[in-house]
Amino acid sequence: MSGRVDAAWWSPAPHGAVLCGLCPLRCRLREGRDGPCGTRGNRGGRMETLQYGEVVALAMDPIEKKPLLHFHPGSRILSLASRGCNLHCAFCQNWSISQELDRPVRRLTPTQAVALALDEGSLGLAYTYSEPLVWFEYVRDTARLARAAGLKNVVVTNGFVEPGPLEELVPWLDAANVDLKSMDDAFYRKICKARLAPVLSTIRRLHAAGVHLEITNLVIPGLNDADDQLRAVVDFVASVDRRIPLHFSAYRPAWRLQAPPTPRETMERAARIGRALLESVHLGNV
Ligand code: SF4
Repeated sequence: MSGRVDAAWWSPAPHGAVLCGLCPLRCRLREGRDGPCGTRGNRGGRMETLQYGEVVALAMDPIEKKPLLHFHPGSRILSLASRGCNLHCAFCQNWSISQELDRPVRRLTPTQAVALALDEGSLGLAYTYSEPLVWFEYVRDTARLARAAGLKNVVVTNGFVEPGPLEELVPWLDAANVDLKSMDDAFYRKICKARLAPVLSTIRRLHAAGVHLEITNLVIPGLNDADDQLRAVVDFVASVDRRIPLHFSAYRPAWRLQAPPTPRETMERAARIGRALLESVHLGNV
């Protein structure tokens, strides 16, 4: 099986270019060029995915590690990732998978992935570690087979995706943890090279569709740990549904950001702010 297959969600553009419609960056790629996500490129005036079925991380994890604390607690789930991400956050806590594109690969067809999950007695499949929504075609194909086999599908995602692809995937999803990095659009633009609004839309859509939803906010000293910034995240989650579990996760120095780790007191302050409005607030990495 080759990692290269026809991509979904693109259209031709003048002079042999292609316009990607998978995420809100909507890249226009000339012949031979790859998207900044590293997962799709223009080959002969057509868009191809570059890593269909190419798995760089594979493990049976406790579901709590996703983190999902309110979805089949105590179960284990086959977790897999390919390389690449459409965001390039300086603080990426999974940068060795998301940002390094030359990792060793294990090839796994959707059928093989589902068979492996069944063999392992897994709750289902978790598409995680890097960004699953830019592994779209493989996640969609595998999720359909997994559902047919009675398995659950979980995504752990940055939520930065266009509405069309999200709609195509939603019927196959059982649970999601969405990373809400900040309620400040300038934070998304400057630090992640992305935008806030599409992430909020994804969260609202998943909730409206009845997908089990939990949200993670990575608390980074000096960048998003002020009371008003934490409260803005809490207010947004409460505006969708105050029963949605919120995970405040402590930052550790990683990749291009080497600020000191988030202090315990900051995490406890975040928890107090969250618990004033939300039913379920958890601290991670503490
Ligand atoms: S998925 Fe990749 S190629 Fe497509 S718009 Fe986003 S970053 Fe660009």
